[in-house]
Amino acid sequence: MKIGDFLYDRSMNKNEAMRRIVELVEEVNYHNQRYYVLDKPEVSDAHYDALYRELVKLEEEYPNLAKSSSPTQRVGAKVSGEFKKITHSKRRMSLDDAFSFEELEDFASRIEKITKDKIEYVCELKIDGLQIVLTYKNGLLVTGATRGDGRLGEDVTHTIRTIQEIPLKLTKPLNVVVSGEVYISKKDFEAINKQQTKLEEAVYANPRNLAAGTVRQLDPSVAAGRRLKSFVYDLEGDIGPTTQIAMLQELKSLGFAVNVDNRLCVNLDEVKKFIESWAEKRDKLPYETDGVVIKVNKIKSRDVLGATAKSPRWAIAYKFPAEQKTTQVLDIKVQVGRQGTLTPVAVLKPVKLSGSVVSRATLHNEDEIKRKDIRVGDTVIVQKAGDVIPEVVAVIKSKRPAKSKEFKMPKSCPVCSGAVIKPKGEVAHKCANKNCFVVQLRKLEHFVSRKAFDIDGLGTKIVEQLYKEGLVKDFADFFTVTEGDIKPLERFAEKSASNLIISIEESKQIDLDRFIYALGILHVGDQTARDLTSQFSTLKEISNATLEDLQAVEGVGEKVAKSIYEFFNDHQNSLLVDNLLSAGVKINISRKLKSNQLSGKVFVLTGTMGSLSREEASARIRELGGRVSSSVSAKTDYVVAGGSSGSKYDKAKALGIRVITEKQFLDIIK
Ligand code: NAD
Repeated sequence: MKIGDFLYDRSMNKNEAMRRIVELVEEVNYHNQRYYVLDKPEVSDAHYDALYRELVKLEEEYPNLAKSSSPTQRVGAKVSGEFKKITHSKRRMSLDDAFSFEELEDFASRIEKITKDKIEYVCELKIDGLQIVLTYKNGLLVTGATRGDGRLGEDVTHTIRTIQEIPLKLTKPLNVVVSGEVYISKKDFEAINKQQTKLEEAVYANPRNLAAGTVRQLDPSVAAGRRLKSFVYDLEGDIGPTTQIAMLQELKSLGFAVNVDNRLCVNLDEVKKFIESWAEKRDKLPYETDGVVIKVNKIKSRDVLGATAKSPRWAIAYKFPAEQKTTQVLDIKVQVGRQGTLTPVAVLKPVKLSGSVVSRATLHNEDEIKRKDIRVGDTVIVQKAGDVIPEVVAVIKSKRPAKSKEFKMPKSCPVCSGAVIKPKGEVAHKCANKNCFVVQLRKLEHFVSRKAFDIDGLGTKIVEQLYKEGLVKDFADFFTVTEGDIKPLERFAEKSASNLIISIEESKQIDLDRFIYALGILHVGDQTARDLTSQFSTLKEISNATLEDLQAVEGVGEKVAKSIYEFFNDHQNSLLVDNLLSAGVKINISRKLKSNQLSGKVFVLTGTMGSLSREEASARIRELGGRVSSSVSAKTDYVVAGGSSGSKYDKAKALGIRVITEKQFLDIIK
């Protein structure tokens, strides 16, 4: 059975097929948005590929039901509005996939039928990164863009310029367009995720998403600090090599990094050998590869072959099968999240998979468990498919213990024993108790987290302690606790209690977008909060907005608008907001930002600057979406050191925080 056949049911009639196509289109579009635009996939590539293939097969079987707007007819997803758009000189395409040697043979025979020629191929390792398109004029890099939707890309020249392996000046003064992949090494990926865990931030799902998320940052210094790498593989313009192999050589001589493992194969047998050898040893490569791209070597033959709506006919991507292992499900635990969502998680007998030991796998929801019929005691196949998040692929039913029981979602919350409900139209079960211990705790943690009120000294443990002691039950309680309340608590010396009260006091003045984000409204992340404040200036405007007003905000869809609307029209929530304002929270009126270039970055200014006053520098940082803090802490991103800077400079050095000169600061804010 091939991966794509997992979900495909051959016994469907036309009506069922029609319903399934609508479902799949919606699901694939949803995952495309998460993957290409938000760089935050929710499912593994193997899972996505299975859905995609099921859609392709159904559309092939029922061509009348296939719409031109189907994701199978489009490259990537609609590009984000955050960047300037660049129109590509030619259409940038995706690649058709092959999951078996039979599919490769079909590909080769289709080609030979059209060209009536003996074909040579170039095999290139498929780098799991982000495609970029580089335009050079007279040998100088003028723009760097993402592939985007194939026609329009996002202008990411500012981050591309930070990549050492991409020359800003070619060895010859040519007008050319070069395409390739930006990626991040496995080692750097792991180091960055370790740092994320330390900062209590979400880890990146895989190197591809981290590379894409880094290139698509508004602040170039983030990319500069992440050591992105690149391999290129395509060249068009002033010089036109006649073969792919010559093109790769030319690219190398122009100063680019070209993968040394690319090979010319004179027939399909050599292609298969190349694939087999890399399937074995790809784990040893310093970067992630998810397959081999096989390209017709002669450019003339490519012109004859042309392209389909989405992919060239002269190339195909052979996808390596995901590494799979068998292990046992020891237990199925149910976790409760911030919105009260119950997520079943399989506790697995530890097993080494794609380089790391795996002992847990999310089972998403009850429907997913039912579909795969996963039970405690089952022997299961697990895979990572290049992802950090492991998944249970299937159950080996022949090994099932005699008395195993079907999994049932608990009727009461495993934390607070409150009722569990399944809201209409949703797949997830939820704890109905708004005061559920974990739900409440996660909300409080979110409220003080870095992108929200950002209260120094209020880590997970302290929040839990304050909650358990009954000192903080609600958001507003954070602003009413006193030094005297905290001092007697375990772990609190006099100094840390007074520091915490100072941090709480400092956090009371807050920007509108951070305030909205802190409220923890369902579906409202930090980006949506910023989108809202680019349209509305005050909290009142947002809370009084109609559903239509909210939907008119770019980046806010129907579901998100409904959630915001319902939040502000709930009496309990109005009370919660009123209490915060009565407790002294002051929300800054949102002025339209000149850009989001420094979004989320915290600056500390020290010493005197020659060219601008501290107030001017602070205003500029805020205009660009950054924040200015008066003290250096682990949350500081930059310390700007002017002349005669003192203890802040020393503290920054001790904490390993980046200290920049006035000149470097001016370059950043330019
Ligand atoms: P693709 O990844 O299947 O192949 C095309 C891309 O391969 C090119 O755009 C280029 O960026 C890359 N590539 C790497 N090395 C190359 C080389 N040597 N020559 C040419 N191209 C090379 O196609 P796609 O449209 O970018 O993405 C589709 C894939 O992305 C899916 O198959 C899936 O694996 C993944 N995806 C996952 C999710 C998810 O939610 N997990 C969602 C959408 C897409």
